[in-house]
Amino acid sequence: MKVRFVTLGCKLNFAESSALGRSLLASGHTRAEDGEQADICVVNTCSVTDAADHKCRQALSRLRRENPNAVIIATGCYAQLAADKSQQTMASSQGLKGWEQVDYILGNNEKFDIPELIARLENQQPMANSRQPIVLSTPIRETDAFHGALSFSSSDSETDELHTTIADRTQRTRCFLKVQDGCNYFCTYCTIPYARGKSRNPHISELTAAAQQAINEGAKEIVLTGVNIADFGRSTGETFIELLQALDNLEGEYRLRIGSCEPNLLTEQIIDLVAGSRHIAPHFHIPLQSGSNEVLQIMKRHYTRELFARRVAYIRQRLPLAFIGVDCMVGVRGETEEYFSDYLAFVEQLDVSQLHVFTYSERARTRMVEMDLPVVPPKERKRRSDLLHRLSELKTRAFYAANSGQQLTVLWESRNAKGQMAGFTENYLRMTAPYDPEKVNQFETIQFNL
Ligand code: SF4
Repeated sequence: MKVRFVTLGCKLNFAESSALGRSLLASGHTRAEDGEQADICVVNTCSVTDAADHKCRQALSRLRRENPNAVIIATGCYAQLAADKSQQTMASSQGLKGWEQVDYILGNNEKFDIPELIARLENQQPMANSRQPIVLSTPIRETDAFHGALSFSSSDSETDELHTTIADRTQRTRCFLKVQDGCNYFCTYCTIPYARGKSRNPHISELTAAAQQAINEGAKEIVLTGVNIADFGRSTGETFIELLQALDNLEGEYRLRIGSCEPNLLTEQIIDLVAGSRHIAPHFHIPLQSGSNEVLQIMKRHYTRELFARRVAYIRQRLPLAFIGVDCMVGVRGETEEYFSDYLAFVEQLDVSQLHVFTYSERARTRMVEMDLPVVPPKERKRRSDLLHRLSELKTRAFYAANSGQQLTVLWESRNAKGQMAGFTENYLRMTAPYDPEKVNQFETIQFNL
């Protein structure tokens, strides 16, 4: 079968698509080349924001238009939420509106049954599109299953995963290792626990084996991914710090990056471990979401801004040049002008390297849409987002300036269109240099100059 695979959203989705892509290739399926009609189209969807939902709908419509006879399979978080909705609407026989172009909707748990589904479809007569998808989904909150995944793709935009799976056989610099899935936190604005299920993980021994194999195959950088990765250990009684210690003791020349860690779970012991580690990069990604304690309470986050400030100060004490990226949300219900000003003033004085700014969108099923709190008008949400984006630029510039003259180690990755190669230092400074094939996938210690 000729398969087209489109992935949207987070690194976790990319890692999972890559694992599925490898399995399909091993079963003898091939990639539908550009302009070629596919027999099967798979879209691994995302539902983190309204905009993500919109992109999924666009991708599905485009695939149907371009591949009128293909079987279209939607899976991932947007598909999971639609599958849940279909179970409610089935009772009222209303059907699932807006999914007429899709043949199958698979939940996040059923995502890993796609190779078997495709094998079954191969032996079936072509199906006429019934204008109502077949929904295969179990209640995600009940699942304990963990499906491992590893990808060698670094794309952060929509891509054809079979393509990157093949292409990356020659370019295996960075890989994403899924160490955890699901979340038990239920922040009031977030749909992810409904789409991904409860927090769960495999044993440390399975992850060290997968990481060691990736290193043996040439990976030089391993990025740990998951939904709430520092919550690692719920299924196995192990801890996140034990996982990091084990991954710090593999054989070979490699670097580890920790993905996003909730501030309440990013302990001083973990920061100490990073500071003394040979392999773990001084790179932290910490979700703040709001710098107002009142708004953090509305969001049902698990920390105060004082705890967040202590974490940042401790990182700076142990690792003065560490990269610290911070997720910031704006415009949630109840974020008054006064709370936002307080938030902005708090972030201004934080010594961090970059802000990842997200604009709140109202999501069905979240507790926030039930809250009787003032809604921030979209124009005002945009103004707040612009202010934080500007602040982020200043912080990033200051971070680059603080590193000028430092000896740093860059891992060269690939060639870009202008004959340059690009790479990142251990503390996530992006660098470029004229393309030199001898240096690709190699570490090089250099003096960083602005
Ligand atoms: S920690 Fe909060 S924001 Fe993050 S996935 Fe869990 S519920 Fe969503």
